Amino acid sequence: MPDAVDNPSTPPSTACAPLPAALWEAAGDIAVVLDASGRVVHLSDAGLALLGLDRETTLGREWLSFAVAQNDVPRLRPLLEALAAGGEAAWPEHGVITQRGVRRIRWKTVPLPAGGPETGRVVACGNDITDCLEATQTARENEATYRRIFDAVNDAIFVHDPDTGRFLQANERATTLLGYGPEELRRLSPAETSAGYPPYSTAEIQEELRRAREGQPRLFEWLARDKSGRLFWVEVNLRRAVLDGRERIIAVVRDITERKAAERALRESEKKFRQLAEAIGEVFWLGSADWKRVFYISPAYERLWGRSTKSLYEAPLSWIDGVHPDDRDAVLGALGTVAGKRPGAGSFPEYRIVRPDGQVRWVQARYFPVADDAGVVTRVAGIVEDVTDSHAAGEGLKRLNERLEVMVRERTMTLNRMNQELIREVAERREAEAAMAAAKEAAEAASQAKSVFLANMSHEIRTPLNGILGMAQVLAATELDEAQRGFLKDIEDSAGALLRIINDILDFSKIEADRLEISKEPMSLRGVLASVAAALGVLAADKGLGLATEVAEDVPDLLLGDADRLRQVLLNLVGNAIKFTKRGGVVIGVQCVETCLPPEAAAQHPLQGLLFTVSDTGIGIAQQDLERIFEPFIQADGAYTRRFGGTGLGLAITKRLVTLMGGDITVESVPGEGSEFTFTAVFDLESDVPETAAPAHDAAPTPLPPLRVLVADDNRVSRDIIEKWLWQRGHVVSAAGDGKQALDAATMATFDLVLMDIQMPGLNGLEAARAIRALPDPDKASVYIAAVTAHAMPGDRERFLADGLDDYLSKPLAQAELDRVLAAAARRARPEDFPPEDGATPA
Ligand code: ADP
Repeated sequence: MPDAVDNPSTPPSTACAPLPAALWEAAGDIAVVLDASGRVVHLSDAGLALLGLDRETTLGREWLSFAVAQNDVPRLRPLLEALAAGGEAAWPEHGVITQRGVRRIRWKTVPLPAGGPETGRVVACGNDITDCLEATQTARENEATYRRIFDAVNDAIFVHDPDTGRFLQANERATTLLGYGPEELRRLSPAETSAGYPPYSTAEIQEELRRAREGQPRLFEWLARDKSGRLFWVEVNLRRAVLDGRERIIAVVRDITERKAAERALRESEKKFRQLAEAIGEVFWLGSADWKRVFYISPAYERLWGRSTKSLYEAPLSWIDGVHPDDRDAVLGALGTVAGKRPGAGSFPEYRIVRPDGQVRWVQARYFPVADDAGVVTRVAGIVEDVTDSHAAGEGLKRLNERLEVMVRERTMTLNRMNQELIREVAERREAEAAMAAAKEAAEAASQAKSVFLANMSHEIRTPLNGILGMAQVLAATELDEAQRGFLKDIEDSAGALLRIINDILDFSKIEADRLEISKEPMSLRGVLASVAAALGVLAADKGLGLATEVAEDVPDLLLGDADRLRQVLLNLVGNAIKFTKRGGVVIGVQCVETCLPPEAAAQHPLQGLLFTVSDTGIGIAQQDLERIFEPFIQADGAYTRRFGGTGLGLAITKRLVTLMGGDITVESVPGEGSEFTFTAVFDLESDVPETAAPAHDAAPTPLPPLRVLVADDNRVSRDIIEKWLWQRGHVVSAAGDGKQALDAATMATFDLVLMDIQMPGLNGLEAARAIRALPDPDKASVYIAAVTAHAMPGDRERFLADGLDDYLSKPLAQAELDRVLAAAARRARPEDFPPEDGATPA
């Protein structure tokens, strides 16, 4: 043993200078010097205390044999050997056997310089890091536990940055609720997960976050939007919190779609109950089992008692004040036997009511118990019937009998006289009835004639109006200065407004004159909705309104029905909704009436009822106007008419179209909050839809090669308009003023397309087309012919196509429609220029 070891308080000398004892003790929780063979040369006092050993028993002992935890020995042995051989090997963190069990020690080792007396020795200083490790482990476990709780909660929880509002964290429920992954969420702002229109907008969110940040806990309902675009109701609870020393906003969000639906169902059922109670002539009431409170009393009470229902709500027993003083004791006696007892069904003895105006009525009152869901009787309901007439009959019967005999005698005498008069009267009445029937017939004929006249007139007005609109479009494509463009816009706006009014009148008079039919053709429901949204989306966006469509998932898409009329109904309702809404938005909803039929049922073409709703957050409609607005020429408020325009025909037409589609339309509205129009319609389910029924997508038109087009129309203005459109598109145009000229032109030259007006003097369009088809030259005979007509009557299209025409365009010509026909004609004329079609043929 080296002599330095002999003196326990003197640390071993090093090659440099002996270390003061204090330094050894400062060198950590344990300091040890081992010799080349791994035996203890020195151990600090702190080390001895840690191991729970005394100096004598440790000195000279092999370190590995008593101090190192068994499973760390194999790892440590080669390191000690390497150190002894003068190598530089650091001790890894390992277990040391102490009096408090095995503790993890982190070491720093220093080999003493070789060549001196301490060659092969090593100094190792260690710190006990067991507590620290355990604390880290506990913290990790805690965090995992909190995360599991965070994820297990049924509500969605979000942590927001209070400055930007951005999502910092979200639990699992939050990601399933919105359909975004946690990473995606972090890139979103809360506005992107909201309906997006006022009051569900960015500004509102910022305001809520700001208030929450100021320490006011916020609880509100919100219209959220998930990744797929679906809108749904949630309840949001915002609170400020400090997490890890930083300010955060925590949002707890609960899906309340079901609760909302339940509330709505409850409102509906309450409304039905009220309607029923208010429709019956008898007084109906609902009260507590002790008869001391009234929950409901129908308005018939006011008629029968001559007192207000309000007075009864305020003083539930005040009905007794109206009981005749002579009957009051009997009524109070009967009441005493039932009130507060186990309620059963029964009735009061008939009694009299004295109204404030002195009139006396006899009534019969019956009552019956009402049980709650658990079968406990909590309420009593009753019906009070006015039986004055039958009562009077009973009383009077006796006296009547006595007088009857006298009367019979008197009457027999007068009867003979009256009989004569009667015969004369009957003859007169017959005459009057005949006159009335004739007048009624005349009036009906006049009304029918009026409708037909109106239909014809508006049709006639449409033709020149189309001329104005068409020429305006042609003019718009020329070079104009700013002011001229403004004038042109005014012309277009005014003519457009006039055309809408004329169209309304035409539609309405067609319906009145029974000339409107509903077709049944394959259609895509979602296609129709998309076209409505596309047509009115811009208008809504211009006003800063949202326009959303919510179609229940199981609603079938392919149906047999009249897409144009359905679109017209939706355009009317959505157009009105946008017109009468200043902030907020409009939602179109579709669901099945009762159940949605599965696609496999389609083979039998069963009927499918659909329920459409158009709701807005606009000015609403006053209660007294709700029924009237479906009548023709009615507008809820004359003042609005001047403010919003319109004819008051839209809803009348809509209602009749809906009736023609086998449905019904109703409206609910709260003034100042908004309106909800609901209508039903019946369709056939369609299984095998030709692809033409798919909604046309607004693909950019492919540039066409120049086509040779023959325009046949006897109206010069119409012809000019079409010709100019075609020139502007680079096509070569010939014109014909009637059917004969058209046939001559098509005989002499070869065309790629003939636009054939149907109503032409002499040879009409159909006859000319038939004659062209009969031409000997197959190239000329097979030219693409499209019928053009302003007479858009149901069945026309089928008739033209059956007559061998290829296509059909209705006036006024829509540019997009004309482009479609040009493309179809080009395809026929130059198939080699077009990629093979994937089934889409021109409709
Ligand atoms: P109009 O052409 O005048 O709009 P409609 O028959 O379409 O005729 O509507 C009749 C009236 O019903 C309107 O003038 C308006 O007063 C009221 N109305 C219709 N839809 C709404 C709505 N969504 N919100 C408020 N009022 C409406």
